[in-house]
Amino acid sequence: MSVRADRAAVPGALVELTLRLGDPARDLVSLAEGNTSTTVDGQLVVKASGARMDRATADDFVVVDIDAAARVLSDPRATQDDLSALLALAGDPRGRRASIETLVHVAAVHAGGAAWVAHTHPTAVVGLVSLAEGERLWQAPLFPDEAVVVGRPAWVGYQEPGLALGRAVARAIAEHADRYGGPPRLVLLGNHGLVALGRSAEEVEAVTTMAVKAARARVVAYAVGTPRYLDAAGGDALAARADEVARRALFAGGQL
Ligand SMILES: [Zn+2]
Repeated sequence: MSVRADRAAVPGALVELTLRLGDPARDLVSLAEGNTSTTVDGQLVVKASGARMDRATADDFVVVDIDAAARVLSDPRATQDDLSALLALAGDPRGRRASIETLVHVAAVHAGGAAWVAHTHPTAVVGLVSLAEGERLWQAPLFPDEAVVVGRPAWVGYQEPGLALGRAVARAIAEHADRYGGPPRLVLLGNHGLVALGRSAEEVEAVTTMAVKAARARVVAYAVGTPRYLDAAGGDALAARADEVARRALFAGGQL
């Protein structure tokens, strides 16, 4: 069986992160949107389909065999039905399933080396990634903390949630790593939302928070005039500076 319920395997920090990100006042998700995950002993603990982030308990998460999920992700002959079969929790009285977006998390862990993943649909970000010029708006940072905390995002044009989206996210992360020497901390999903990748709950929350601020800053800047973006390469250099690496480690819960 590739998915099982095991409330004892669900870290308290994952439930707490989910509750914080699900707070309606933060406008990151509505109703049952969004999902969070972390790796535990080589397996993925991910939010179950249909569960609300703002009411999450350990019972709202399931444990997914990452290797089995990664096989579906990388098998070109796999179908959406194969994914549906993988995500089902056999014999579960509550009929729980792993989120349809589980493969996004598997891609972030496998291709991006993430230990924690948070996927949300913030209104400000969904609006900007739904524009025809959405990708262009994120090609350079607007302010220093965007460069340091978020860095260069990877972009994935709209894909149907499920197998197609998981494959596209895995491809985008791998291409980003090839081009810039490391995986992104933020993946923007066209007409959909964002994925934050990190080493800790604190880091994915910091990346999410700063990405939303970056979206709002663009809305304000374009509403008033013509934004002057920072130089993208300069943003990379700033993010790589030793003092900024140390500062970023503080957001990540002390991990360098
Ligand atoms: Zn989503």
